[in-house]
Amino acid sequence: MAKKNSRSFEPLSSAESYQQQAFDSLELDAGLRASLEKPVRELKVAVPVLEDNGDITVYDGFRVQHDNARGPFKGGLRFHPDMDMGHARDLAETMTWKTALMDLPLGGGKGGVNCNPKDLSEKQMRELVSAFTSRLGDLIGPDIDIPAPDVGTGPREMAWIFSSYSEKHGYSPGVVTGKPLALGGSQGRVAATGRGVSLITQWAAEEMGIDIKDATVAIQGFGNVGRFAAQILSEAGARIVAVSDSSGAIYDKDGLELEKIIRQKHENKRRKSIADMTLSGKSLSGEELLSLDVDVLIPAALGGSINAENAKSVQAKLIVEGANLPITPEANEMLGKRGIEIMPDILANAGGVVVSHLEWVQNREGYTWELVRVEDAMEERMQRAFRDVVDYAKENNLSYRHSAYCIAVKRVAQAHELLGV
Ligand code: NAD
Repeated sequence: MAKKNSRSFEPLSSAESYQQQAFDSLELDAGLRASLEKPVRELKVAVPVLEDNGDITVYDGFRVQHDNARGPFKGGLRFHPDMDMGHARDLAETMTWKTALMDLPLGGGKGGVNCNPKDLSEKQMRELVSAFTSRLGDLIGPDIDIPAPDVGTGPREMAWIFSSYSEKHGYSPGVVTGKPLALGGSQGRVAATGRGVSLITQWAAEEMGIDIKDATVAIQGFGNVGRFAAQILSEAGARIVAVSDSSGAIYDKDGLELEKIIRQKHENKRRKSIADMTLSGKSLSGEELLSLDVDVLIPAALGGSINAENAKSVQAKLIVEGANLPITPEANEMLGKRGIEIMPDILANAGGVVVSHLEWVQNREGYTWELVRVEDAMEERMQRAFRDVVDYAKENNLSYRHSAYCIAVKRVAQAHELLGV
């Protein structure tokens, strides 16, 4: 089997490990495996930004286009100090399986810039985004590769990409998703990933005989995904007993003051870290949150947060992956052996890409849909994927993750076979 030299001496990344298990189960032939595991294209660009003192800083920008057999490459842009080609590649592969599992006419891509957005003024950020867009050139486009927000980017950055790209190509709202509503964004996009996480949590809990109205939930990461997952699960009756951000965690066995945390963290101009808030409950470290005795644990921060070191102390009955690749393969095996159910990222956090697809459809139609239409269409697609995963897992005696990957890989493999490449 052909493998890229750059990775042959490294341990398998989570993305590679999970997809290879599916390739093995499906007994894919060597040529097809090689096509599916090698990205179509990897691009590294220099992104220059003029500092306030007149110096120029050059950042590294990345875009990995993993697979487009089923449709244009699709995936977010991460602006974070850890961003590199390896992260972009793992996340791009994950996007290919996610869009296929959701049966969307899209492929997989991912990218970003190695920078700390907190160190950049609004003006510098705008410059960075427009230099990055210009250097991606014609490798992005509504029928080619469609970026979206991820960690460190949001509607503001998508608006700037749309603007820079449209200057050269004419009005092109379909070049990015996750735009502000006033620029062709979709109703429901901002909350979509958290809403999807909350739906999958409710359906999985029901499958396991856990009453969501009595369920206790701990959430790692209180950004876009964690915040909406918490809010919507709480509305469904679950008790959110702990949440964390990079500053620390807060725990209250009777349920947290969620609205107060949201107000201080997301809605006030001067946003506070959880460690700086005055809240009822007990302060915990981020690691302590992971080991709480709760029904549901939702990792919604960054990759690899549940690993071989801390997996043994996890006590939750169900883990729902809000983040991409939050559980390492070693931890995945340890948790599986202990009977802890895991709803995998390519299913659990797919609400964002499902609504991104609906945004792209609206942009192409030149028409806007009401929130209820968007939410119904998203829920229907996620419910179908959830049933596919649960049924295939039962029929084949597989974990939910393995089942999800097998379904997705089969679809992408079929597209390659039909295309003859
Ligand atoms: P975000 O930047 O809005 O939030 C990230 C949160 O994680 C922040 O609250 C940050 O403080 C916290 N965090 C960082 N390090 C932490 C740590 N060590 N412990 C606890 N918390 C920590 O990002 P987001 O959009 O919410 O994305 C979170 C995850 O979900 C990422 O893995 C992303 O790839 C994935 N995801 C996001 C979307 C989306 O639509 N936004 C879609 C699919 C998947």
